Amino acid sequence: MGIPLHQAARIGTYLLRQHLSGRERYPLVLMLEPLFRCNLACAGCGKIDYPAEILDQRLSYDDCMAAIDECGAPVVSIAGGEPLLHREMPQIVKGYLERKKFVILCTNALLLAKKIDDYRPHPSFTWSIHLDGNRAMHDKSVCQKGTYDKAVEAIKLAKSKGFRVSINCTLFNDADPAEVASFLDDMTALGLDGITVSPGYAYERAPDQQHFLNRNKTKELFRGILARGRGGKAWAFSQSINFLNFLAGNESYQCTPWGNPTRTVFGWQKPCYLLGEGYAKTFRELMDTTEWDKYGVGKYEKCADCMVHCGFEASAVKDMVRRPLRAATVALRGVRTQGAMAKDIPLEGQRRAEFVFSDHVGRKLTEIRAGKNGAAKSGTQRPVAAE
Ligand code: SF4
Ligand code: SF4
Repeated sequence: MGIPLHQAARIGTYLLRQHLSGRERYPLVLMLEPLFRCNLACAGCGKIDYPAEILDQRLSYDDCMAAIDECGAPVVSIAGGEPLLHREMPQIVKGYLERKKFVILCTNALLLAKKIDDYRPHPSFTWSIHLDGNRAMHDKSVCQKGTYDKAVEAIKLAKSKGFRVSINCTLFNDADPAEVASFLDDMTALGLDGITVSPGYAYERAPDQQHFLNRNKTKELFRGILARGRGGKAWAFSQSINFLNFLAGNESYQCTPWGNPTRTVFGWQKPCYLLGEGYAKTFRELMDTTEWDKYGVGKYEKCADCMVHCGFEASAVKDMVRRPLRAATVALRGVRTQGAMAKDIPLEGQRRAEFVFSDHVGRKLTEIRAGKNGAAKSGTQRPVAAE
């Protein structure tokens, strides 16, 4: 698997400690969105549809450090928006490394060649390049020709400078298993350190609503892909074997939304990285006031088709701690890609979707316009001129 031993050992110790202490809810990966502004406009993106005043907001270095100090997760995944548009990003990465965190910096790589010398290789620092498949798939997904070639050039450049490099690949319902498998072979030949692959989440604000996968299609797609790569053993995934087994329909997990708590310019997002149904000022408030039982597959319409890594990787990892032998057997044999699938969670009792997006956007705009904003009041984010 594409997880270095020292990282697996440190995270394993953290998990074991949480498990033994009987802590019911704890974070695994801080999802940091220090800005929403991006230099692409992908059809399946649900993160950038905000007015310019919100796109101009940034979390400061201090906000970013406070977020990890508050939640204590061993891993930080920095996304957005495009993190390389944030002027303080090199300091933010350095600050996290000094705190002995594992840092994953997600980027569409368009600015990587320009910014790479602001960063230093480190065993706990990984570039995660957004790449949604081969040239045709990726350029279509990000709605811009030539982006695949730039991303591959950036991967080669970062590898040549001694960085750890992985890709994050989001798949939609037009993905062909053979094409994806061949793409994973190509990426492996580039000497990548890890691969993260996940079905896309059907963001209500994404411009393209036609291409999101439903649960059954996700499972069939991943069976088709993994069958072409020895049950997943052919590729260095940075995901747990249990998560891949789940994607292939062999496990039926409920999500663990608090496993990947999300800090954005709005605050701590309730309940998860994918859904913004409210915001808390502190991590403690997020944990104490989110009505966790109202969310998850079978509980809420917006969760019905979700099988995304940031919701279910923590469930898969917790299961690994609980049943290590079972996980070891799957790792040894590879993910099963034929036969009956696990019975999924029934959806009949789920509550109807609520649409609250415009409320919190409206509130934020009022704060920004009224006073140079809630940020100034709470000492959090600040507006910046466009880079
Ligand atoms: S998916 Fe990523 S790269 Fe694409 S527009 Fe959204 S934030 Fe930018
Ligand atoms: S299933 Fe869980 S992770 Fe997915 S959108 Fe719902 S609450 Fe979030």
